[in-house]
Amino acid sequence: MKTAIVSGASRGIGKACAIELAKEGYLVIVNYLNSSEKAQQVVNTISDLGGMAISYKADMSNSKEIKQMTDFVKKTYGGIDLVVANAGIGLNSLLIDTSDAQIKKLIDTNLVGTITLCRECADIMLSRHSGNIIMISSMWGQVGGSCESIYSATKGGIIAFTKALAKELGTNGIRVNCIAPGLIDTDINNNLTPEDKLALIEDIPVGRIGNAQDIANAVVWLQSDKASFVTGQVIAVNGGMII
Ligand code: NAD
Repeated sequence: MKTAIVSGASRGIGKACAIELAKEGYLVIVNYLNSSEKAQQVVNTISDLGGMAISYKADMSNSKEIKQMTDFVKKTYGGIDLVVANAGIGLNSLLIDTSDAQIKKLIDTNLVGTITLCRECADIMLSRHSGNIIMISSMWGQVGGSCESIYSATKGGIIAFTKALAKELGTNGIRVNCIAPGLIDTDINNNLTPEDKLALIEDIPVGRIGNAQDIANAVVWLQSDKASFVTGQVIAVNGGMII
């Protein structure tokens, strides 16, 4: 059976990806940080749909925990076919108001965590000369977001990392791509008021905020053989907000 790790999969985009990938026949490792109940609910939803999943607690800003998770998956299921490096945190703050600790947490979670998870998965994928790596960047990684400079830096880093790693792993049968979501209706945007959202919709040509399913649909396509000639790409799923 094919296995897929989805980091930060207890809610939001990760949850939608986990459910869709289970429908595609993957045994899904639903990674979570603290929300064991919510992760278990995702596993239950997948079981109810006739799919297979397990939940696995690991902090994506901790390289030891990442390695323990990937080692467990290799030992238990024989390999890793797909990783969706999705876990991430946001921060709305002027740069000059941002502390060392905030900068470190953002970079450790969004960028170092993503790189480390991909390294551990790539190591396992290389032994079978096949695999699929999909990272979740952001439109702010493409164009930069005001009051989100560090977040933008981490997501821009993911874009450069995707392009470089795709070149490094392409001849080994491993494709590497990232998705750059626009404004998606999840908890990460809980700071936005309904008025903020209405104002932002005016800048979105399709006239709506995205949902987690929009991103999961792109993940399903990217992992499929229909995208077998696609690697090193940034797939923008943003309703036309950034072109
Ligand atoms: P979310 O806050 O609902 O989900 C983020 C998930 O990551 C949560 O489950 C959280 O627990 C998990 N997480 C955070 N730190 C973690 C850690 N150290 N270890 C393990 N898990 C951790 O928001 P979301 O929108 O679903 O975010 C998913 C990804 O999409 C993030 O990388 C985010 O930056 C990116 N993104 C979101 C939007 C948006 O508008 N929602 C836009 C662009 C990019």
